Amino acid sequence: MSDTIELDKAEPIAAQTKRLLTTARCRFCQTPLRHTFVDLGMSPLCESYLPADQLNAMEPFYPLHVKVCEECYLVQLEEYVSPEHIFTEYAYFSSYSDTWLKHSSNYVEMISSRLGLGSQSLAVELASNDGYLLQYFVEKGIPVLGVEPAVNVAKVAERKGVPTLVKFFGCQTAQQMVADGQAADLIIGNNVLAQVPDLNDFVGGIQILLKPGGVATLEFPHLERLMAENQYDTIYHEHFSYFSLITVEKIFAAHRLVLFDVDEIPTHGGSIRVYLRHIEDGSKPVSAAVVNLRERELAAGLVRMETYATFADQVMESKRALLELLIQLRRAGKVVAGYGAPGKGNTLLNYCGIRTDFVEFTVDRNPYKHGRFLPGTHIPIHSPERIRQRRPDYILILPWNLKTEIVAQLDYVREWGAKFIVPIPIAQVVD
Ligand SMILES: [Zn+2]
Repeated sequence: MSDTIELDKAEPIAAQTKRLLTTARCRFCQTPLRHTFVDLGMSPLCESYLPADQLNAMEPFYPLHVKVCEECYLVQLEEYVSPEHIFTEYAYFSSYSDTWLKHSSNYVEMISSRLGLGSQSLAVELASNDGYLLQYFVEKGIPVLGVEPAVNVAKVAERKGVPTLVKFFGCQTAQQMVADGQAADLIIGNNVLAQVPDLNDFVGGIQILLKPGGVATLEFPHLERLMAENQYDTIYHEHFSYFSLITVEKIFAAHRLVLFDVDEIPTHGGSIRVYLRHIEDGSKPVSAAVVNLRERELAAGLVRMETYATFADQVMESKRALLELLIQLRRAGKVVAGYGAPGKGNTLLNYCGIRTDFVEFTVDRNPYKHGRFLPGTHIPIHSPERIRQRRPDYILILPWNLKTEIVAQLDYVREWGAKFIVPIPIAQVVD
């Protein structure tokens, strides 16, 4: 799996580049990656918010060139940056979104009753962040353990009474946990599978950690929604893989895990939650929901390379439409502000080339980001009060997946007639 690439000093640069490009292999099945899904150019790491004193320094940009595997149809980014670099100091605190907290608390109610969890069970969450989800199990008296590599967010979880192992998860961590008596009745992985560079090691770890009759549930954005709705801004360096049901099922099967149920959920613009069990556990038959979604993906062409080849054109058109709208508004002298400073906003702004010439500032509820600047575009981030002071004519909603919540929170902007812009799937003004 870890091919090392040797640089030959005598080899011309162009030939070296060509060879390096053709050496990239699928992170699941090792097939050489020869087909582009979409190329979003060069972008900085989307969670590296800059303090003022770094604005004059060099800023690293990496390619956002997404490929698709012709063998297993896994849509993926190469690992341009090591996960240690990305995740050890992470600015994303899950608890700053009301919608996400509500989603988590509903999930805990549903799964505890479905699996009959109680004081003798153990629920383990992989990438448990600041304890936003496990806290609801703690309230119900169900024992929990979080696994989280980012030291700063793990500390916040511990303060909430959520025991947290500060580690990256994989086969080795799983073996250690089982040896320590921490095998799980329930393993939860929300928006983490996409962020795992070594997919086989991570899924193998789930297989090791899960008790014989246990269940793992994983949530991740659904590739079918990403393609149908132009959600190219959910592509960033932290997201290595983009999954269809068909592909992810193959990955689990390779690790002796059966995908026996699936829910379609609205989070992150359209996600799926899959339910896994050991292949030996005959007590949980594969549901009709799995069969139906598999059929729908086949009908949508997700096992044909031609389907994947059309995505890039859609993305370029979405960029043109957003720029067209912003150019029109700025020519008319309108003030445009942003709302939110999410990772996806940074992909969108960098790919479209939108800086303070179009968007004067943005605001965010997370105080960690106040006084900092968006990576690449250097748009300043303020607290939400700035909207009331500056009274912009238009507000570009960057976390468009939360647009209903945001439009409700910002009801007061109607006092001065401000309107909202939703950039995805195609730029649209909302009154
Ligand atoms: Zn593959």
